[in-house]
Amino acid sequence: MKTMKYILVTGGVISGVGKGVISSSFGAILKCCGIEVTMIKIDPYINLDAGTFSPYEHGEVYVLDDGGEVDLDLGNYERFLNITLHSQNNITTGKIYQQVINKERHGDYLGKTVQVVPHITDAIQEWVEKVAHKPVSENGKVPEVCIIELGGIVGDIESMAFIEAFRQFQFRVERDNFCVAHVSLVPQPKTTGESKTKPTQTSVRELRGAGLSPDIIVCRSERPITQNVKEKISNFCHVATQQIISVPDLSSVYEVPVFIEKHDMAKFLCHRLQLGIGPLPPMKRYMTPWIELGAKMRHLKDELSVAIVGKYTRLEDSYTSITKALHHAGNKIGYKVNIKFIEASNLEKTMLVDDPASYHSAWRDLCLCDCMVVPGGFGKRGVEGMIEAVRWCRLNDKPFLGICLGFQAAVIEFARNVLGLEDAYSTEVKEDATNPVVIDMPEHNPGAMGGTMRLGKQTTVFKASSADSKIRRLYGNPKEIEERHRHRYEVNPTYIDELEEHGLKFIGVDRNQERMEVLELEGHPYFVAVQFHPEYLSRPMKPSPPFMGLILSAKERLKGYFARGCKLSPREPQSDCYDSEDELNELTVKKINLDKDEDNSSAYSSSSLL
Ligand code: GLN
Repeated sequence: MKTMKYILVTGGVISGVGKGVISSSFGAILKCCGIEVTMIKIDPYINLDAGTFSPYEHGEVYVLDDGGEVDLDLGNYERFLNITLHSQNNITTGKIYQQVINKERHGDYLGKTVQVVPHITDAIQEWVEKVAHKPVSENGKVPEVCIIELGGIVGDIESMAFIEAFRQFQFRVERDNFCVAHVSLVPQPKTTGESKTKPTQTSVRELRGAGLSPDIIVCRSERPITQNVKEKISNFCHVATQQIISVPDLSSVYEVPVFIEKHDMAKFLCHRLQLGIGPLPPMKRYMTPWIELGAKMRHLKDELSVAIVGKYTRLEDSYTSITKALHHAGNKIGYKVNIKFIEASNLEKTMLVDDPASYHSAWRDLCLCDCMVVPGGFGKRGVEGMIEAVRWCRLNDKPFLGICLGFQAAVIEFARNVLGLEDAYSTEVKEDATNPVVIDMPEHNPGAMGGTMRLGKQTTVFKASSADSKIRRLYGNPKEIEERHRHRYEVNPTYIDELEEHGLKFIGVDRNQERMEVLELEGHPYFVAVQFHPEYLSRPMKPSPPFMGLILSAKERLKGYFARGCKLSPREPQSDCYDSEDELNELTVKKINLDKDEDNSSAYSSSSLL
């Protein structure tokens, strides 16, 4: 077995400058060179995992195949590298301490005092080494490089044990097998327009003081930094100028891998880590997928608007994977997707009295959109608004995709307004509803929070009668599919026959045929809802089928797509045009966008397009 190579990515000055995208880009570059890469995210908080987080706190909870509820950065890694990670690829302080405390209770430390150094630091190193070797690609190969992103910034009290662990780790694995990339902010205050290097100098000094020397410094700024500024950082931070990489705001995060590789990053890493691959051909030969994707996005001419009617719209990161899945499908089909976030509770009738302006503006936004997604969510707030929005789509032939809570809202709406079951509800919203059309599952354990749902990859079997269904055809007409889940409630089996008799067909069920997974409304252009979360498996180069269907249908292209055997028409917009060499060399640099107001595609924001 080859020796594992490690790249530690640390942060300086402030967090939230796109460290996740930069770490993923290193991985994407190495993968383009034919190297197997895995990734670890360290979140130094005490929580065991992201399962109990409010979406307002950290954005979306990302779910893995194995049911791990993790930080949304793992979504970036999976999408950029097209890999499947395990819950152990997300380390938290809580997980490490839990393991050490369990060992202590078991008597494994033989009466010794258990301390941060060496017991916690050892546990961290052992965890990293063990997880690094776990295969993450379809080919099942053991990774050759492991990229570790340390959350937060150097100097955070919470991350001290991790920094110390890696200080020791560099000797444990030896110099040729370990390097450090430090991602730092270089502010360019509007008053002078100059690039300020002092914060970066301070953060590098802090990193060095903790015993880790950066091999690469990635400078995040609004505009590119000049050679002079690079030289200054190089002098003060003791890193060669060639290894000072400037990553300014780009028009899309898809451009980051190509932009970084223009600094010959693969060559540097191959040399520094002795990766044992020969001289590299010109970049356009090995970075082709990323070059093409960037070019495709820059040439999208036609647009489409999608409403996301959710309950956490105050923080757009709460819907990161859904936003990205929509962009993946849009790119593929040839449309720039404009997303309109609509707060579900603003659509509720009570708002007509409480806040009529918000009510009318929410309805106006919804009516102006080409199609709608009702995403997942928990709790009572906003559910009535979602039900209203679903009703509007059903009655007005608007393409609709419901996901998880959106699926449940569609069932409640249909039961109330078509079956005439007043008080049809989910027991999550009303425990004593007379018509509980959505009920809790045995997995639901009200006593404990975190990890108590139906989680992770599960199989959905399409019913024999579903051969003509749109959603099954979009998936390529398979007998079954696998998607990731995260829910506590399910459709009440008592009502299924009645719902189906009236046209709401449950075309996909779980293996035991007990749980409803996919529904489709007969006679509607696109009224599809799924109990699972298809957004987690959407990839930039391989969009998720339910999202493809939504966009195709919104542009009235779904029938044609089916008629051609699920192929896009070459005559319709697909934006398969490529940039000239010059254009590639001059990747568009965007204006500063720190407050995210104008456009959320800045690399400053983790809600960017990837
Ligand atoms: N709250 C619903 C349930 O637990 C839906 C969950 C979700 O949308 N992820 O079943």
